[in-house]
Order: sequence, then structure tokens, then C-alpha cells
Amino acid sequence: MSGNWYNGFSPADRTKGANLLRRALREGTVLPASICSMCGRVPSGLGYHNEDYRKPLTAYPICRRCHYAIHIRFRRPYYWREFIAPLDRNGWFQNLTPDPASLYRPYDLTYPEGGTAHSLLTGGSYATCRQSVAHNLAYLFSPMPFQIEVAGE
Ligand SMILES: [Zn+2]
Repeated sequence: MSGNWYNGFSPADRTKGANLLRRALREGTVLPASICSMCGRVPSGLGYHNEDYRKPLTAYPICRRCHYAIHIRFRRPYYWREFIAPLDRNGWFQNLTPDPASLYRPYDLTYPEGGTAHSLLTGGSYATCRQSVAHNLAYLFSPMPFQIEVAGE
């Protein structure tokens, strides 16, 4: 379960979006990625991070370390700033707000320009790795802080 609010989306919103992405991955309409969209590494397991749960298939492939940094940025904004400094200057994550109020504020108020969300998954720019599916599912259903748990399927 996604137990916290994020970008104005409730835990129920987030779970619903995660379910839609999970189904798309299972049915093959979205191909699982193998490269972290933040650091470019190819970890053994890759999860997904969503900014806009109205578009659940726009989730970003992301490694555990980067995913942790994203969600801890509200409590550790300086850590976040240093974390992203050496990464892609044009990366989708560069303009994420560290404002804790954004957790509950409607997405469009925080990101009136449409924010960062666009589909990396359907763009075909990432190599696919079927073996990462199990890890992806574990991330999708993990509470914060993210923990790998064996999915029940
Ligand atoms: Zn990463």
C-alpha cells in the first residue's frame, strides 16, 4: 500500500494508480524498464515512481536509492539538493519541490505548468528487463520507507 499522501493524491489514489500500472506491466502494454531514470544505473531491481497519479502509466523507472532520496527530500532538503547535483541537469526530477505542503496540495497548484510527468515507459527509450517485474511489483506495494517484500503472485 502507498500509505502517505503525495502531490495531493491520497493513499487510495496512489494504490489505484499503482494497480493500473501493475496491470499494464502484467499485460505487457507497458514494458518493464531496467535503467534508473535518475542515476542511469542498472540495478538488480527497479521500481517506479509516480508524480501524477491521474496518469499512472507515466511513472518513472527508478532505483531504490533514488526513490528513497525523492521521498525523504521533504525532511532532508539539503541532502536532496546534493543528491541531484551530479545527476542530469535536465532530468525530470530537478524541479521537484521540497515543500512538505505539496504532499497534500493538489498537483496542479504545485506544478501549474504540468510538472514533470510524461511517459518514459511508453516512449520506448529504456531497455526492457522482464526479470525486474517482481521487484517493480514489490515497490508498488511498499509503504514508506520503501521495503522490498515478496509480492503474492
Ligand atoms: Zn537511481
